[in-house]
Amino acid sequence: KSSISPLRKINAVINSYAVARQKEIDALQKNAEFRREFIADISHELKTPIFATQGYIHTLLDGAIDDKQVRMKFLKRAAKSLDSLDNLVQDLLTLNQMESGVIKFVFEDFDLKEVIEEVMEELEHKASKRKVQIDFKYEADKNYITHADRQKIYRVCQNLIFNAVKYNHDKGEVIIGLKAHKNHIQVDIKDDGQGIPPEDLKRIFERFYRVEKSRNKKEGGTGLGLAIVKHILEGHKSKISVSSTVGKGSIFSFSLPLVKESNPENP
Ligand code: ADP
Repeated sequence: KSSISPLRKINAVINSYAVARQKEIDALQKNAEFRREFIADISHELKTPIFATQGYIHTLLDGAIDDKQVRMKFLKRAAKSLDSLDNLVQDLLTLNQMESGVIKFVFEDFDLKEVIEEVMEELEHKASKRKVQIDFKYEADKNYITHADRQKIYRVCQNLIFNAVKYNHDKGEVIIGLKAHKNHIQVDIKDDGQGIPPEDLKRIFERFYRVEKSRNKKEGGTGLGLAIVKHILEGHKSKISVSSTVGKGSIFSFSLPLVKESNPENP
């Protein structure tokens, strides 16, 4: 008996080593698969604005350049395609840096209401060119101080609020709510736009996932906005949640720590 026991032990060690190696190999294979898919996705996404720009430039070279009106129209379109290419590359860099942990989070105390107001100002600036009429109802009557990365939370609010406007209809409504709970602030961004089908809801936070391919093409997004939102909130140990009904609208919500609340008239 005593001579078998050491052998068994050795066997057990070898087995556990083999299991660990297999796990490593599986992880590496998964990683390789992920990279392959990622590169395929990126190439596909880059092609769209590149093809468009090429098309406009070749049309100009083929003679359209001689007509001043046509020339302006095609140059503007080419510039727009290059802008979307630039946005895409920027978003890809941000996402990549976040996934590899290169981006550091800088935590500080700040007023969450102020951040939302800044996003709304930016939106109003852009909305003057839009035909969609959006009413903002701001439900918070207090100022809420949180402890987070201000710049990145700006990005979260920007992506969510811009989406609420983008995927809305004429005379649509967007309601931004801030609610204080015991030790956290809840942010709700509610729209009465087109909504998201249940089968897509789980996947909208994946990079490049779109409910309908055509939705995004018309609106010119990168398909990376919600993936970035998810990563930023994970960096704050927070999560994004969504509930949506097709034809009625969506609510996106997240929470951040509440440091203190104050009354704007009596801070
Ligand atoms: P995009 O650049 O396409 O807007 P996002 O990652 O921000 O990328 O969003 C992913 C997809 O989720 C969008 O293409 C759209 O189909 C859907 N979506 C996001 N926000 C909303 C919303 N508020 N209402 C309806 N659909 C939405």
